[in-house]
Amino acid sequence: MEPLRKVKVEFSGVSLSYGKTQVLREVSLAIEPGEFFALLGPSGSGKSTLLRLLAGFLRPQSGTIRVAGEDIARVPPWERNIGMVFQNYALWPHMTVRQNVAFGLEERKLPHEEIERKVAAALDLVGLGNLGARRPGQLSGGQQQRVALARTIAIEPKVLLLDEPLSNLDAKLRIHMRVELLALQRKLGITTIFVTHDQEEALSISDHVAVLDGGVIQQIGTPLELYDNPANRFIATFVGTINLLSGTLEQADGGSVFKSPGTGAIALGRMAAPAGPAEIAIRPHALMLAAPERAREPGRAWVSGTVVSREFLGEFVRYTVRVGDTDLVADQPHHTGEPGFAPGAAISVGINPAQVKILKAATDQQRDS
Ligand code: ADP
Repeated sequence: MEPLRKVKVEFSGVSLSYGKTQVLREVSLAIEPGEFFALLGPSGSGKSTLLRLLAGFLRPQSGTIRVAGEDIARVPPWERNIGMVFQNYALWPHMTVRQNVAFGLEERKLPHEEIERKVAAALDLVGLGNLGARRPGQLSGGQQQRVALARTIAIEPKVLLLDEPLSNLDAKLRIHMRVELLALQRKLGITTIFVTHDQEEALSISDHVAVLDGGVIQQIGTPLELYDNPANRFIATFVGTINLLSGTLEQADGGSVFKSPGTGAIALGRMAAPAGPAEIAIRPHALMLAAPERAREPGRAWVSGTVVSREFLGEFVRYTVRVGDTDLVADQPHHTGEPGFAPGAAISVGINPAQVKILKAATDQQRDS
């Protein structure tokens, strides 16, 4: 297949309501040509609605959607040339794989030979060249997924939309397919928008991610930006696991000290944050656990706690540790032959100040109220 022309997709101030229920509020985002872009958010946050607007199944009440610089408000869905792959694949059960893939091309009334050629190329691209004569019922979930992809890319769409395309696959296959999906996208160079509620999926394969909650964009960034610099409490807790502590920040000679009734004082070194009420965020792997009798590694702020529970997760052990009246989650590497810490054990918790984020507590409190 020919490499496709890469196009930019832009939503500007897009709002949509179903009756009195507002589903999207002033959504603005730009997807660069050739990007793999994820829309991430909990169920009901408005992700699929954005795809449906772009495909033309819905119209926004306000705002503009542009594809390759052109406002598409007046372009009917069938002329937009936007390909969509649905969660349930939506394959015709009575047709063969080849007929399913040919469907969109026949609707476009292309010459027979051209259809044959394009179908063969699309099936080869997804590695199903030899299964064209089968029916969907004779294929595994992963293979059906590939047929749905082949059918969509066969029409050579300007933009590829994927609505939770991997959620019907088992965990191992999902990981395999997401790598394949990205490889295919890179090969075609097609601007791709991928909807998922699975943060790991979004972080692992996307160039940029927009996180939605309640129809409002909470943050747009690279996976690293979202993980390391969450814009607010929602992002901090939705993208990965995190410990949040509320207290006050005080400035002393040696730097900033965070105090909370639960944890006591935690020396954080120099921090570019004003004194006052603050909420701090620490990832589970930024906490180090050590037996109390061991020498405390310098460079960390150490507090005392008790192990509440542990969960062996293979690559690491996830501990819940009580410090004062606060439970913290701490992930520790597992080393063969080391028993780890037992529930009930007294423990020292070392906090790496460089890994502590201060969230803008005031704005978030407004959002929560
Ligand atoms: P997501 O894809 O993030 O799960 P959707 O975009 O499907 O979310 O839906 C966003 C919100 O719009 C949800 O609260 C959903 O209940 C509502 N919604 C979706 N379709 C309709 C509809 N046809 N009529 C009324 N409400 C709808």
